[in-house]
Amino acid sequence: MEFTQSFPRRETKQIMVGDVPVGGGAPITVQSMTVTKTADHEATLQQIYALAAAGCDIVRCTCNEPEAAEGLARIVPRSPVPIVADIHHQYRRALEALEAGVHCLRLNPGNIRKPEHIKLVAREAKDRNVPIRIGVNGGSLHPDLYTKYGGKVTPEAMVESALDEIRYFDDVGFDLIKISVKASSVPLMIEAYRQLAEVTDHPLHLGVTEAGPPPIGTLKATAGMATLLAEGIGDTIRYSLTADPVEEARAGRQLLETLGLRDRKNIDLISCPSCGRAEVDVVTIANDAMAAFGEREIPLQVAVMGCVVNGPGEARDADLGIAAGNKRGHLFVKGQNVMVVPEDEMVDTLVEWAEFIHEHGADAALERAVNTKDAAKRAAAEDRDRNLNDRGDDANNAEAVIAEIRRGH
Ligand code: SF4
Repeated sequence: MEFTQSFPRRETKQIMVGDVPVGGGAPITVQSMTVTKTADHEATLQQIYALAAAGCDIVRCTCNEPEAAEGLARIVPRSPVPIVADIHHQYRRALEALEAGVHCLRLNPGNIRKPEHIKLVAREAKDRNVPIRIGVNGGSLHPDLYTKYGGKVTPEAMVESALDEIRYFDDVGFDLIKISVKASSVPLMIEAYRQLAEVTDHPLHLGVTEAGPPPIGTLKATAGMATLLAEGIGDTIRYSLTADPVEEARAGRQLLETLGLRDRKNIDLISCPSCGRAEVDVVTIANDAMAAFGEREIPLQVAVMGCVVNGPGEARDADLGIAAGNKRGHLFVKGQNVMVVPEDEMVDTLVEWAEFIHEHGADAALERAVNTKDAAKRAAAEDRDRNLNDRGDDANNAEAVIAEIRRGH
């Protein structure tokens, strides 16, 4: 039996970003941001479609100039997902974005500071039933708070910034709110979100800001967001990577699927790290398999294993897998050998059987193998015995190395 852990989630209010619920027990959503000029609505829409295809639920576009607001007016009716307008410095852009029909605003309390401006935007958003994200950013904190906390960005200062903004919203009876307290420092953002979660029940948008390019950026963002998600904190997430935003959407989706917080959409490819027993270049086969599956929506776990000695056993919980033998691949379904294929057909065979299982189920796949499975089992046993004979129990030659080390003493 596969062990699955579900993380109890913090109870939050629910808001609707267009037709996508955020908070209140709704599935955690993935967000990303376009990098095109919003005024160039065709290019922006193209990117929004690519993001939606990669698993993005909500997309943010900058609204930094009047032309961007005009672009939003053309983008919103054609977008497959709800659109958030990102506003900095100029409250007028927020009003224009609302006019353009956006489904949510993001305001930075650090750079839209006049209470009358904040309240005016909140009133307009309230009239249209449009939520606002209070997007506190460690790098652009309100100068007064910065001074108050000794010239340092602290979790307390970030939380205070969010609470100050909520008070302005309260004054006009607006509470369609989600909040983020992002920082580029992972320990800082973790602590800020923890403190925020203690004092509010508004839904939270998680992120490590300016995380950098992958893979280190992905790692940083994952460290911050996964820690919080495992504590039940977070209702929507964004990876801020210096990369094609499609990478952000994919990473977001994968993180949630990995934590069991969203249903699997694509292949979950597991593969062994390879070792001295491997009969094939596992890295190449695994990468080829990833590329061959691409964006196909096949929610199965598929294994690529370097040898038939340990591969099928270690990957017995996978829906489907292939283990390398002597210049051939041993295909197995739910741990049972079903077929043997030449090495250069391993990847194509995996894809074909994954599609079959996705369509007809694992039982039908085992049924399909009724005439090949006995021979497949025998062939696997042959290759297993040969591997053990050739390489023995010490496939990585550890004993020989140890003997060498001892000789050196
Ligand atoms: S023993 Fe086989 S399955 Fe395990 S790491 Fe080595 S090659 Fe891969």
